[in-house]
Amino acid sequence: MILIYLRPYAAWPGQILRPTIISMTEKFTGNFTQQEPIPEAGIAAALAVLRHGRLHRYNVAEGELGETALLEQEFAAETGAKYALAVASGGYAMTTALRAVGVCPGDRVLSNAFTLAPVPGAIAAVGAQPVFVGVTEALTIDLDDLAAKADQADVLLLSHMRGHICDMDQLMEICDASDVTVIEDCAHTMGAAWRGVPSGRHGVIGCYSCQTYKHLNSGEGGFLVTDDEMIAARTIMLSGSYMLYERHLAVPEPNVFEAIKYEMPNISGRMDNLRAAILRPQLAILAARVGRWNERYRMIENGLRGTPGLQVIDRPEEELYVGSSFQFLLLDWAGDRIREVVRRCGARGVEMKWFGAPEPAAFTSRYDSWRYASSQPMPVSDRILHGIVDMRIPLTFSLDDCALIARVIRAEVGAVCRS
Ligand SMILES: *Cc1c(COP(=O)(O)O)cnc(C)c1O
Repeated sequence: MILIYLRPYAAWPGQILRPTIISMTEKFTGNFTQQEPIPEAGIAAALAVLRHGRLHRYNVAEGELGETALLEQEFAAETGAKYALAVASGGYAMTTALRAVGVCPGDRVLSNAFTLAPVPGAIAAVGAQPVFVGVTEALTIDLDDLAAKADQADVLLLSHMRGHICDMDQLMEICDASDVTVIEDCAHTMGAAWRGVPSGRHGVIGCYSCQTYKHLNSGEGGFLVTDDEMIAARTIMLSGSYMLYERHLAVPEPNVFEAIKYEMPNISGRMDNLRAAILRPQLAILAARVGRWNERYRMIENGLRGTPGLQVIDRPEEELYVGSSFQFLLLDWAGDRIREVVRRCGARGVEMKWFGAPEPAAFTSRYDSWRYASSQPMPVSDRILHGIVDMRIPLTFSLDDCALIARVIRAEVGAVCRS
């Protein structure tokens, strides 16, 4: 079957609208895991590091400011934090954050039921146990459930899962009232904000990842930011700074380290100068990337709005999000019908993941698949998790690609809906 499709916009003023012939079974051929190349400036900086050979962050020539120290200074400025530390991964940043606020083996830590494995993994790494908090149809943490459970732990490891930010003002009110320390997992919200406050700056510590699938790409890597000088000093000692913390540029005064430097174990997880060299030019263009992600996100969102049976996630006005992935809900659909939508879209090149699958697949898993952590049944959240369909939006996709992806999903959801 052949369909005549009029492009809804002109690429430049005065362009004549041309009908485009599109077959009903058009296929998408892009790769959902292909990121953009490292900017040329990052490649050049990486080559310079390789040529001089000083890859370890503390291996600097006389008077030299290493790439890692400069990156930290720039990341602190970007987020408006007093202190920043670059580390080996996002998971390491979260584990270090938990240690730095004093979480001990046997403690309980509040966290999201809807998140990814590195989050409960970070809690397990310090010997603690997660207390899972539910998820709403906005795909954010359920604040009523949080209020009900706030007396069960001293710390909340809050995951801004897939970039959906809850009402942070209300969340902080709940946590402050119960003396719960908030650590933010900003793996999907680097560059995002709530009511103008950068994501990661409401809690006492913000943690970020620069793994390949996040907003900056150094393969592996992460950051931690805070305004608390004692916590900053602890994280730096924990990361394996030996007594070389004075070579940092976004750290508290040396006297702060004096108070804790013999108390903190060295649990090495430093960033190196090669990764930092790759990251600095990317950080400089983060805001532009956010804009490009959001154009793509809105293209898919507009294409899917009004699809019968499919619920797009409304984004609050207070939220500046980074649309690096897209989720929708097939709420109250039977599992085999959701699986059929995913299969049919997959056959047309649109790769989506379903959070409702009983067994973890690829990066999707659920609170009840982490068997090392005990959990209570959460029927309200289960209903939502069962309906979540998820896909990545790499910046290598064009806006036309995104329009095509939306057409494929719309058609296949419609076909399964009618069957
Ligand atoms: C990627 C990710 C992290 C951190 O992951 P690393 O691979 O350790 O950098 C943390 N939380 C979420 C939700 C993630 O997706």
